[in-house]
Amino acid sequence: MNAGIVLLPGDGIGPEVIDEAERVLMTVADRFGHSFTLTRYPIGGIAIDSFGTALPEETLGACAASDAVLLGAVGGPKWDDPSAAVRPEQGLLRIRREMGLFANLRPITVFPQLAGASPLRPEIMTGVDILFVRELTGGIYFGEQRHAPDPSGEIAHSTMTYTTGEIKRIVRVAAEAARTRRKHVTSVDKANVLEVSRLWRRTAGALMGSEYPDLDYNVVLVDAMAMHLISRPAAFDVVVTGNLFGDILTDLGSMMTGSLGMLPSASLGNGGPGLFEPIHGSAPDIAGQDRANPLATILAAAMLLRHGLDLPNEASAIETAVSRVLDAGIRTADIATDGEKPVVGTNAMASAVIGEI
Ligand code: NAD
Repeated sequence: MNAGIVLLPGDGIGPEVIDEAERVLMTVADRFGHSFTLTRYPIGGIAIDSFGTALPEETLGACAASDAVLLGAVGGPKWDDPSAAVRPEQGLLRIRREMGLFANLRPITVFPQLAGASPLRPEIMTGVDILFVRELTGGIYFGEQRHAPDPSGEIAHSTMTYTTGEIKRIVRVAAEAARTRRKHVTSVDKANVLEVSRLWRRTAGALMGSEYPDLDYNVVLVDAMAMHLISRPAAFDVVVTGNLFGDILTDLGSMMTGSLGMLPSASLGNGGPGLFEPIHGSAPDIAGQDRANPLATILAAAMLLRHGLDLPNEASAIETAVSRVLDAGIRTADIATDGEKPVVGTNAMASAVIGEI
């Protein structure tokens, strides 16, 4: 395969982890006989410094014309003033919108080797392998926002809206993913209270029944889901939900693993290029010190191969290599527990993965 991949290193540890993911992608290309062309473009704070905008048009154009995009992270103290007119995260919001990325996929996988890093007991975390599918461009974050005077002071409204079209397309993403996994979809809503959730539940249920009768399907209220995720997280396979509930539940999920440096995510649109990235930020406290864990970005590169380029065997090769490296006891500082010293740096961790591939 010939594929054009855009790399958006961004700020802080972004460039460091992207460099390592690039080495891993080139190793995969070599080993499987593909030709990947990787090109870097600016986004975030570094783009503000050079171009006065967090997402230069040239970057956006290159992303739109690519086969897939791999992003590091954006932001840092230099650009953190909340009153600034131009801010790094504007680049992220705009790129998601312009590329029509409506589906956010966040795997919450517990590597058994790291079960001790979770704040939950290891027996609860054993076997946890959840894929969250969060709607990303609709719901209350994009609904009408109003603000007015009120006899008591002020009144504000934020409106949660979903159309049947928006619900169907995100549920289809979840169902298609479930067909490649353990064939179970859980839809999360608040249908006992919200009209928009009742539409979500009716639409999702009808679609699952007519188009995906081969899959197991159930619905759970969002408040109950928060409890189930802590008490029996291994019971879930693919979990599909709206923007607000997904925002909260995926952060809960990521903390369950106890290792921010291990978690990738993907944002997908309607057949165009997807955006793949680690869930962590730019970690300015450790930037430039060879201390960042590159595995989240390397696993995001694996998602890029699976979901962006339809290369599942190549993706598995990376994931298996990561697992073997963990088996060998190789740890960056963020995932090392007592007695697992000395730890390795960013570059050595990636080299270990490359060695296994
Ligand atoms: P953060 O994720 O950057 O860091 C939180 C903590 O986790 C820090 O102690 C950091 O050192 C550690 N950490 C994060 N990634 C790590 C890795 N790969 N290896 C080892 N340790 C890691 O979150 P923050 O400190 O709240 O934010 C820092 C900056 O990043 C802010 O400017 C914020 O706006 C930005 N941010 C960007 C994104 C993104 O680009 N998608 C996401 C979140 C935060």
